Amino acid sequence: MKTITKQQSKDIKLIGKFVEVYCAGKHRGAERTPFALPAGVGERNLCPECASFLGYAVTRRLKCPLEAEKPSCKHCRTHCYAKPQLAKVKEIMAYSGRKLMMRGRLDYIWHYFF
Ligand SMILES: [Zn+2]
Repeated sequence: MKTITKQQSKDIKLIGKFVEVYCAGKHRGAERTPFALPAGVGERNLCPECASFLGYAVTRRLKCPLEAEKPSCKHCRTHCYAKPQLAKVKEIMAYSGRKLMMRGRLDYIWHYFF
């Protein structure tokens, strides 16, 4: 099993949570299976489409060359994702951000946007 940094595991947990919220809200009818995050970060129940997106996001995060220079992906994901995935992550963030806000999960919002 690959070891990852604390910051990587934090970011991966976060994007996993966002994708899960998005999937649960947007793909209600879809069949979801557990998607295992790397390095013991946990798993998320996702439809195949969201699982493949999250797989991509996780890979990008683990490959990020700016590790030492940045506190989190929030500042650089625009440079990191390919166009279609970038559009998708923006949609997911907007959707799940609103949902989590309504549920009072400000800890997630706080971590991500500030
Ligand atoms: Zn989904």
